[in-house]
Amino acid sequence: MERIAVVGAGQMGNGIAHVFAQSGFPVTMIDVSHAALDRGRATIEKNLERQAKKGTISSDAPAEILGRIALEPSLDAAAGAALIVEAATENSDLKYKIFTELDGIADSEAILATNTSSISITEIARRTGRPENVIGMHFMNPVPVMKLVEIIRGLATSDETTKRVVELSRQLGKTPVEVNDYPGFVANRVLMPMINEAVYCLMEGVGEAEAIDQVMTLGMNHPMGPLALADLIGLDTCLAILEVLRDGLGDPRYRPCPLLRKYVAAGWLGRKTGRGFYTYQ
Ligand code: NAD
Repeated sequence: MERIAVVGAGQMGNGIAHVFAQSGFPVTMIDVSHAALDRGRATIEKNLERQAKKGTISSDAPAEILGRIALEPSLDAAAGAALIVEAATENSDLKYKIFTELDGIADSEAILATNTSSISITEIARRTGRPENVIGMHFMNPVPVMKLVEIIRGLATSDETTKRVVELSRQLGKTPVEVNDYPGFVANRVLMPMINEAVYCLMEGVGEAEAIDQVMTLGMNHPMGPLALADLIGLDTCLAILEVLRDGLGDPRYRPCPLLRKYVAAGWLGRKTGRGFYTYQ
């Protein structure tokens, strides 16, 4: 089967590597941080063991699936991959740099996909000499569980690239949904203003975090409250997405809540640092 490279071994990158490897693809997971590579692999192992305990995969499967995932510290390891999915930190300059480099490393036919939550696919594609092969492949968190892949076409993305990425998403057992390239696409254009408003409610003392989340879980039937969901996504990622919405749409209603900024400044980024709106073990 064709090899897949995943750039970034954080919460999303390791989930993306997990689902491709589980579907039989050899995967190279790349991260500049050795610690992130080790944590990413450990997370995949833990999640696979949980799946085996539940009986959704066989008891031999975790070792077999992990055996398909190679860990690499350099982008050079993306050479030879048919599809590269970038899932590094949500920062436009970082993504532009990665795509410029990937364009020189990847096979000429390779598809360069990004898991960005909000950054323009068209702008990222412009950094390469193959904008027709660049596309958004936006997985949801936690990747092994969530069905949706939001497929985002940049202005130059070809029908062929879109078709291939739609097929690959289906091969993973996911449901691809195609949208166009505007700030935040659909998922975060709709979700982030709700999360931001929940943080304003907390800042203004409209309710405690638990109360705000309960109103939305019990009252609106959301499976998770907005503050708990923000902690799951990562408060740094939420802030970065809101800034893209505000700058890209030019409307002050997207301005990030000052309390969200304060938490990020404190390094309280949610689950990944053990503390956000809630504390975690
Ligand atoms: P994260 O902070 O958990 O992981 C980011 C990883 O990128 C880190 O391990 C970091 O070491 C690595 N990295 C940084 N620079 C790199 C480089 N030059 N080369 C290789 N790796 C590099 O972040 P995350 O939550 O996994 O988010 C990753 C991407 O996925 C972002 O674009 C984010 O917007 C998007 N996303 C996040 C969620 C979510 O719920 N967290 C959902 C969908 C999409």
